[in-house]
Amino acid sequence: MSSPVTLVSSGSDHNSVSFPFTNTYARLPQRFYSRVDPTPVAAPRLIKVNYELARSLGLDPQALASSEGVEILAGNQIAEVSEPLAMAYAGHQFGNFVPQLGDGRANLLGEVIGQDGLRYDIQLKGSGPSAFSRRGDGRAALGPVLREYIVSEAMAAMGIPTTRALAAVTTGEQVFRETILPGAVLARVAASHLRVGTFQYFAAKGDIEGIQTLADYAISRHYPDAAQSGKPYRALLDGVIARHAHLIAQWMLLGFIHGVMNTDNTSISGETIDYGPCAFMEAYDPAKVFSSIDHRGRYAYGNQPHAAHWNLTRFAETLLPLLQKEEGSEEAATSSAWAALEVFGTRFEQAQTAGLRRKLGFFTEREGDASLAQDLMDHMATNRADFTLTFRRLSDAAAGPEGDAGVRTLFADPGSFDPWAAAWRNRLREEDVSAQERAANMRLASPAFIPRNHRVEAVIEAAVLRQDFQPFEELLDVVSRPYEDRPGFERYAVPALPEEYVSQTFCGT
Ligand code: AMP
Ligand code: MG
Repeated sequence: MSSPVTLVSSGSDHNSVSFPFTNTYARLPQRFYSRVDPTPVAAPRLIKVNYELARSLGLDPQALASSEGVEILAGNQIAEVSEPLAMAYAGHQFGNFVPQLGDGRANLLGEVIGQDGLRYDIQLKGSGPSAFSRRGDGRAALGPVLREYIVSEAMAAMGIPTTRALAAVTTGEQVFRETILPGAVLARVAASHLRVGTFQYFAAKGDIEGIQTLADYAISRHYPDAAQSGKPYRALLDGVIARHAHLIAQWMLLGFIHGVMNTDNTSISGETIDYGPCAFMEAYDPAKVFSSIDHRGRYAYGNQPHAAHWNLTRFAETLLPLLQKEEGSEEAATSSAWAALEVFGTRFEQAQTAGLRRKLGFFTEREGDASLAQDLMDHMATNRADFTLTFRRLSDAAAGPEGDAGVRTLFADPGSFDPWAAAWRNRLREEDVSAQERAANMRLASPAFIPRNHRVEAVIEAAVLRQDFQPFEELLDVVSRPYEDRPGFERYAVPALPEEYVSQTFCGT
């Protein structure tokens, strides 16, 4: 086991923060990455350390928040056992293949073993250029760093597999985008930063040995059971597909729109990664898009399962040479890949239906459940009902018809909720569950608080224009306890007023 970060006194009054880093990725062949230290910044200042997460990783949050900790979090100092590197990867961006992307503005500092015994990457994002920067400056603006911090922590609090935010600092430097913005660095924690694009990087070069080394690494780190299987690479493919089917279903059940589901943003561990122009939908609309660059709606809310399947198909392609070794022929490898991919749809639907049952308060499975749920969603779409509030307030309606009023007002035509509610109550009566128990269960499946887009924008505006991080702290606090009704925070639970509504999000670049 690793020792925690400590302020180690070295005899004199000199203190040093020690990270218990290991560096398994740095031990992989050199063509997997480029060794590069973060580029120091002018004047780092701490925005926040995630105390709870730090502790769960065996790190001392106070040491991280100390002046020396902040130097490390900004990339101005390198922890003793860290071997910072930029990972190589490729990727399909909006369908177009780019053979070399890579960490153009991130450094993997190393890995730590959490209290759960699992290995986690610690990465700085916005920490300076690398061999993969192309024309970019290697930096991140404060706004996207705060967005990723809040949204990834909200997702974690809702139990969705995701990278986490360990800390954020401002750099004291400006970054030049459409306007001049303050710079920031995010310290991010991930089960790993392996992506579908990492596999594509080697596949595009015809580097089968590289693919195999990467696949073996992914298996040992994320799918150890696959190693025991007679066909480990097929088992790896099955595992990644299963995790993504589950992940995308969880996104759909929360109204989450990732916004840039490129293959370089598709993680092998099955986590949500690379929060760019992501946002939560308010009025339910399957065609909803926030991202300013997603002109054709490729990554629209309702297209996310399809986009994930497309990305997983690209992943399967990279594994074909390894599947061929397992199956004996090219044809058999292709059939194996298709058989694995075919399962995605069923898995996704199972996860989604199970989630909808919880949201509707069903304890048992009945034939018509999926269509009853679909019926509600159709009415929500026609009536532009707020996705989050509709499901949240259904828990009040489950307690009794006097709870219907709260749901009805969310519908443009309130009366259109009533026939559905009648059918739903008939279904509820088929189960012997107390109204109280049912409502309590439903409240655990449908959050009261999500990071609504206008709130996230307001947080960013206060920080960027007024150096005021109080709104950030407050929103983070609210979304970190998403299932609790909290008196005094009602304004965070309701959708934007027309004049507050923020319809577009922008990439972090
Ligand atoms: P993203 O859209 O953040 O997922 O990034 C896509 C690719 O562009 C990755 O290879 C990033 O490393 C790279 N990239 C994004 N922003 C920058 C930047 N400011 N400087 C250098 N590279 C960047
Ligand atoms: Mg990315």
